[in-house]
Amino acid sequence: MSVNPENVIANLKDLQALTANQDGAQRLAWSPVWMQARAWFATKQEGLGFEYHLDAAGNRWVTLPGKSKSALVIGSHLDSVPNGGWLDGCLGVLAGLEVLRALAEEYQGEPPFTVRLVDWADEEGARFGRSLFGSSAFAGTATIAEDRARRDRDGNVLAETLAHCGVDIDRVAEARAEQANMAAYLELHIEQGPVLETMSLPLGAVLGTKGVERHAITFLGQESHSGSTPMAARKDALAAAAKLALEIRNIARKHEDAVCTVGSVKTYPGIVTAVVGRCEMTLDQRDLNAAVLAQLLLEARRASRQFAAEEGCTVEWSKIWSIEPIPFDAELIELCKEAIFEVAGASHTMPSGPLHDAAEVARLGVPTVMMFVQSLGGVSHNKIEDTRIEHLHMAIRAFDRLTAKTLTWMKQRTAAE
Ligand SMILES: [Zn+2]
Repeated sequence: MSVNPENVIANLKDLQALTANQDGAQRLAWSPVWMQARAWFATKQEGLGFEYHLDAAGNRWVTLPGKSKSALVIGSHLDSVPNGGWLDGCLGVLAGLEVLRALAEEYQGEPPFTVRLVDWADEEGARFGRSLFGSSAFAGTATIAEDRARRDRDGNVLAETLAHCGVDIDRVAEARAEQANMAAYLELHIEQGPVLETMSLPLGAVLGTKGVERHAITFLGQESHSGSTPMAARKDALAAAAKLALEIRNIARKHEDAVCTVGSVKTYPGIVTAVVGRCEMTLDQRDLNAAVLAQLLLEARRASRQFAAEEGCTVEWSKIWSIEPIPFDAELIELCKEAIFEVAGASHTMPSGPLHDAAEVARLGVPTVMMFVQSLGGVSHNKIEDTRIEHLHMAIRAFDRLTAKTLTWMKQRTAAE
């Protein structure tokens, strides 16, 4: 037995040929191309003896029943952002399918534990702005009341779009039924950042997903004539915001993995002849450690008040969104490091800046770990997204080993109970 990475690469290329145009992958969730990708995926399971069904939130589950109902779950997502790459999400699903195929072969159709593969619905949130749609419904953290009226760019309403795909928005919460018997969750994904490439490492074990604090900050000064207002008399809201945009870099640098980003700045009145009276900016701060994240926020708030005072302005904060850091399982992280070491001869652990479906599963208390494979140039959500073929081979082999190790771990845990 054992996985054949070539099968996965061939499937990835087929899927790309089927669902990408000259601008990249177009598997936008709930779109005809996404449905086509899923129909293609269904044909890949034919004849392998798996059971499959859609749950109430549109997640697609493929099950290889084992001697025990206790289940190891492998997951990722087939949906992509518009003009996406050939690996984001689908690598994990197609590697998972190959792992299931190899396990079915090794155990003549019945492994000691049930092994399931899930293609989460709408991980990206690229169309309706609600990321992790399917996995949050599964985890019971979905906010359907707020989401049902969301519209895409063309004015389509979420509830109606789901209905076209066979998903009844009022029943989405029933996806929680899939939580039953779930003993562990594994996800393989491209890194989507430059860390592994910078370290010349193919693979990394993921420690968890960083918590996020996302805020809107508004500096209020005094709009005034650019010609008649002396420099000393100005209340320049942009000057205060600019100081903060630079200071957040110093705030982040005090912590190894912390990141802080000002992604948007708007000035009012925003004309060439006026001192800025109002400046709105956004701040996104992330770290795996909750105490560090709290410190980042505290320091940014403090700095904003100081800069506002220096520039004769006031400052107001309002929270856009936040999520706590979600650490993965310490024992599974160890198994992931071992699997990587056996294949690559070196192992590295790292937090994930982006959120993933794995975070929703881990939040439930299901032991979870992710494996990252190097992304060339750290680029993702772009048609130039790529990973070296030899690194993809290593990733698939290491992920297969992680699966085998996790099954052994489940056996030891069952024996200990
Ligand atoms: Zn992804």
